[in-house]
Amino acid sequence: MQSKVVVEVVDEVVVITGANRGIGLSFARLYAKQGATVYAACRQTSQELEALNINILPGIDITNSDGIEQLRQALTGVTVDLLINNAGILREESFGQLHSETIREQFETNALAPILLTEALADKLSAGSKIAFITSRMSSIADNSSGGYYGYRMSKAALNVAAKSIAEEMKPRKIAVAILHPGLVSTDMIGGYGDITPDEAAQRLSTRIEELTLDNSGRFWHSNGEELPW
Ligand code: NDP
Repeated sequence: MQSKVVVEVVDEVVVITGANRGIGLSFARLYAKQGATVYAACRQTSQELEALNINILPGIDITNSDGIEQLRQALTGVTVDLLINNAGILREESFGQLHSETIREQFETNALAPILLTEALADKLSAGSKIAFITSRMSSIADNSSGGYYGYRMSKAALNVAAKSIAEEMKPRKIAVAILHPGLVSTDMIGGYGDITPDEAAQRLSTRIEELTLDNSGRFWHSNGEELPW
């Protein structure tokens, strides 16, 4: 007997930032395969993204208010079921050689931009919609045993704080929020040396998003299902 691959078809609208490469691209591929209507926001498109039958929204720099407005306009009349704030950057800093510019750049991209973007799209979400913030285990103060990465750790910790507030504010609207660590993933961000592929990360993260409810909203999860300490 021939075995069949069963793909669950979902009828939902998914918006992803930073969708041209890395984990964002894998999210776009995964949700497209599941039959969702995908809006892939990116600064510039990529061949891999172009190969998918989805709505590609290029020219969207999330740190720029015009970029956020452009995304808002592109979603006119659309109800968003799932917003994935995925875009992010990592810059290396060590104590003794701190650069305020790279720390600020990470705050702008990793903390401030996803919050402003979510605020701008909030009226496109309705009861039952979900928001995922892709953060990092490196934001955990309790889990930090190696130091370094000042701007990255600080910016992702700031993201977590704001994401938790958004989770509380969204509860009356019945919108749930997940704060998610993807795992150590082989992307450009970490020079490709991760434990899992971007496709595996997107698959695991999507399972966490499926499990997201108003009861477990606003909590910090590893993509493997483990709850992480703040
Ligand atoms: P990549 O470096 O592969 O991809 C980053 C994505 O973010 C790219 O699409 C990039 O676009 C986009 N991006 C960066 N800055 C902006 C901006 N200002 N406006 C719009 N898009 C932007 O990284 P990953 O896929 O690995 O990372 C995805 C998320 O996962 C990030 O939030 C990251 O912090 C997080 N993460 C990743 C881990 C890992 O092991 N890889 C571990 C923990 C967390 P462009 O091509 O234009 O630069």
